[in-house]
Amino acid sequence: MKYCQDCGTLIKGRTDKKFCDDYCRCHYNNVINRNRDQNFKKINSILKKNTGILEKLIQQGIKTSTPYLLSAAGFNFSFFTHQLNEQNGKICIYCYNYGYIKINEEQLAIKQVTHSLSSN
Ligand SMILES: [Zn+2]
Repeated sequence: MKYCQDCGTLIKGRTDKKFCDDYCRCHYNNVINRNRDQNFKKINSILKKNTGILEKLIQQGIKTSTPYLLSAAGFNFSFFTHQLNEQNGKICIYCYNYGYIKINEEQLAIKQVTHSLSSN
């Protein structure tokens, strides 16, 4: 016995079917795509906000900050796009082309990267 993945109705006939019909199949896929788009949007807006906070500091000529100040501005440390090793052995955590390096528990160095990223 098999049930439609969309509406849960018992499927009669072929046992390899996952849905009642095309309507249920389309509806199911639309819901999955919508959820995926919503997740992209949610995460992108956090990344955008993080990037904007770092960008604003750089534009104001500010190159250091503290975790407390960034948090107060709405920065979310759980979300970033990538991390790269610095020459000094530290790790720079990026939100797109802006990043921060943890100097110590209290201090962060903010940086902007203008060179393009290689994909490997
Ligand atoms: Zn169905």
